Amino acid sequence: MISLGIESTSHTFGVGVVEDGRVLSEERDVFVPPMGSGIHPKHAAEHHINVVEGVIERALESAKISLENVDIISFSQGPGLPPCLQVGLVAAKTLSEVTKKPMYGVNHCVAHIEIGRLLTGVHDPVVLYISGGNTQVISFASGRYRVFGETEDIPIGNALDVFARRAGLGYPGGPKVEEIAKSGKYVELPYVVKGMDLSFTGIVTDAIRKLKTHPVNDVAFSLQENTFSMLAEVSERAMAQLEKSELLVIGGVASNKRLAEILDTMTKERGGKVYVVPTRYAGDNGAMIAYTGLLEAKNGWKPLGLNANFIQKWRTDAVEVTWYEK
Ligand code: AMP
Ligand code: MG
Repeated sequence: MISLGIESTSHTFGVGVVEDGRVLSEERDVFVPPMGSGIHPKHAAEHHINVVEGVIERALESAKISLENVDIISFSQGPGLPPCLQVGLVAAKTLSEVTKKPMYGVNHCVAHIEIGRLLTGVHDPVVLYISGGNTQVISFASGRYRVFGETEDIPIGNALDVFARRAGLGYPGGPKVEEIAKSGKYVELPYVVKGMDLSFTGIVTDAIRKLKTHPVNDVAFSLQENTFSMLAEVSERAMAQLEKSELLVIGGVASNKRLAEILDTMTKERGGKVYVVPTRYAGDNGAMIAYTGLLEAKNGWKPLGLNANFIQKWRTDAVEVTWYEK
């Protein structure tokens, strides 16, 4: 069965083609906001509208198939920025109507988890989901992906981006912070874990303040050390409580090598193992949507009608994961 998947929740317009457990293609066009500003939903949506056709064509071409070969149309139904979600919804409806093939709505967060499980081969992990829009510690329990810990304010990716913007490093900030942190030394910054939850705004505010008195490399290094240790602490507690030995790291921030090091040390000390989603599939992409659409189609989900809408605030734990095998 071949699925074409559309991702458009935020800055990325992506299209992927997946046949059963094999990714045939993954193409994307990412909206980059002007230097110094964040993502404006309307501007991102305008970008997506401009690239829809081209990215779909490229994805079919690299998969070496034509639209007639596609069995189902999958799209990222939420959560996300409404104007951006709308573009994906309309594209999916149009393709479904043209091809007369069924359409499946996919939860963006669940799709990040599923592509991570597919590509790393991990079975029943605690999942650390860290991206520009999310920071959650998740694991499967009683039919759903349950959230065991999360940020109380901004997501970790956003925290790194805000700091980078204020430090004049550009966007996206995560990779820039990672690069300059390599030559940094530790300066004192807050460390904020409350039970299973995390908070990043106070740390970012203090880090920005410290830019006046300390080299940017040192502040970047310390920001990484504190926030990544916080993520490791909460992940470790979830692993202990749930008696799970595998940790799967997903989302754009997962490509950070220093974070992988910290999590590797933590999981090894527990006799476990960390699995990091391959960088190409760590950020938003259409392949994860295509693959999760297939899981839905093969496991009892009903296709959506053409009156379907996006779900702006679709919680991870609201999705019935009918395909989970440990
Ligand atoms: P996503 O929302 O999943 O597309 O991921 C985008 C986020 O990942 C942005 O906030 C980036 O700053 C962040 N990111 C990307 N690469 C890295 C990296 N090497 N280290 C830390 N954060 C990163
Ligand atoms: Mg994402």
